[in-house]
Amino acid sequence: MDQVKKYLAHSGMVNIVVAETTELVENVRKLHDLTPTTTALLGRLVTVVGMMGLTEIKQPDDVITVQMNGNGPVGNCISVVRLDDTVSKVKACIGNPHVELPLKENGKIDVGGALGNDGFLNIIKKNSVSYENYSGLVPLVSGEIAEDFTEYFAKSMQKPTAISLGVLVNKDGVKKAGGFLLNLMPDATDEVITKIENAITSSPSITQMLEDGLNVQEIAEKITGDDNLMVLNKELSIKYECDCNKEKFYSGISSLGKEEIKKIIEEDEKAHVKCQFCNKEYEFSKEELLKLIEK
Ligand SMILES: [Zn+2]
Repeated sequence: MDQVKKYLAHSGMVNIVVAETTELVENVRKLHDLTPTTTALLGRLVTVVGMMGLTEIKQPDDVITVQMNGNGPVGNCISVVRLDDTVSKVKACIGNPHVELPLKENGKIDVGGALGNDGFLNIIKKNSVSYENYSGLVPLVSGEIAEDFTEYFAKSMQKPTAISLGVLVNKDGVKKAGGFLLNLMPDATDEVITKIENAITSSPSITQMLEDGLNVQEIAEKITGDDNLMVLNKELSIKYECDCNKEKFYSGISSLGKEEIKKIIEEDEKAHVKCQFCNKEYEFSKEELLKLIEK
């Protein structure tokens, strides 16, 4: 069972989210027919974006959209997160889901090779109350996802952050997936920072700790070096859920313009649209398309 919890460590000087996302990533793998390489890539992405839904979303209807493109073989990767009370609802898509690369020399999946590192990580936060958009753009560091998001938090948010993401996958599916996102508060002392650096360095990888049967609290204790954690929220979860509907695709089609819609009617009579996040298909009849032209 997936689990996610938020904690305060070292008397509130450190904020940490730890998530096991094995089921979430397995769902994403099946939905997008991913290879082991793209499972690791998109799995890391939905894990970190899902955790950001729980730490960065402050208003109920805020939306965070993350775009990564490193000019690698997978093309463009997008993930979107909303927060519904205590449930972080994440969705994602990838340009080319069938990319498969050989393992790197260290035996790890070549996520950076698949995404590429010649490009940007772009994070757009849409505030539902003020309608203000905040956008943060940082060049990719390695395309390995965790490093790129750490860079984003440091450069764009001025928040010292440690992020670890892991997906253990074989041909049969996802064995373990998870991650943590640790933020240092401005009042964190040098002593605490050193303690955390040492704790993280001496901890096994997130997937190893999950394989060893540690729960999220035990993992949080290990990577903060603090066994007096304060649990912030008891019931939290990260789920894959798409919020698409026909209305949203109406506006997509109308943005094509009159001429393009006329062409669709002449050539195919009707239009089929498939949601790239959940594969749901919508059909627009000739009558519906004509109505769009009239508008
Ligand atoms: Zn959808």
